[in-house]
Amino acid sequence: MTVLVAVALSTGLALVGRAIGWLTPRGTIAAALVGAAIFAAGGVPGAALLAMFFVSGSALTYRLGTSRFQLPQAERRGRTGRQVLANGGWAAVGALLLVVGDGGWAVMAGALATAQADTWATEIGTRSTQPTRLITSGRPVTPGTSGGVSPPGTVAGLLGAAGMGGVALLVGLPSSAAMAATAGGIIGMLADSILGATIQGVYYCGRCAAQTERAVHHCGERARPVRGLRWLGNDGVNFVATGLGAAVALALY
Ligand SMILES: [Zn+2]
Repeated sequence: MTVLVAVALSTGLALVGRAIGWLTPRGTIAAALVGAAIFAAGGVPGAALLAMFFVSGSALTYRLGTSRFQLPQAERRGRTGRQVLANGGWAAVGALLLVVGDGGWAVMAGALATAQADTWATEIGTRSTQPTRLITSGRPVTPGTSGGVSPPGTVAGLLGAAGMGGVALLVGLPSSAAMAATAGGIIGMLADSILGATIQGVYYCGRCAAQTERAVHHCGERARPVRGLRWLGNDGVNFVATGLGAAVALALY
């Protein structure tokens, strides 16, 4: 795909995402940039991988309803620029790597498999009625707690990683790249949970009596740090995890 067509297409799709409330203004710009890189270098196969992640994740987040897990205010406005780059940044890097070799496919698909596994696991896990436990200690925690895992969420995550591998096969990528991406996605998802349970900053809002990943809770109250690194939020952990998933996929490819 020529660069001009790629930029036009990704900008158009990002604006659609903005119009239906899936992206904030900065999220729209980030999505247009990530999409342009993937469309320009990855063509139709790259576009299919990105579409799989973006549509499935957004549909789960914004269409499944919020019976058990109320989305924070910021989430209801759509994905932010930081969120888009945390989930799609390494996939764009993979697209640029295609200029030097086929390993870029493993990087792109591995990063997207991780992002999709983590998104599916979170969206299904936080709506499940089954107990959620911290991946490190097994201690029962509230669904939605950083580092918390549940059987339905874990199964959804495995399906998310395998689903990205399946799309990679469908669009004609080598089976070795599809399998490497699936494995990278599973390892990246595990890393996301372990980092979430250990070094990710977690805060507590006294007014709402709820744990939160944000220094300022969505109610406006300044939350008190409970554990982890104060500067390392969910977006930072996602960025590290998708990078690791991409690296594992590249190593296995
Ligand atoms: Zn609060």
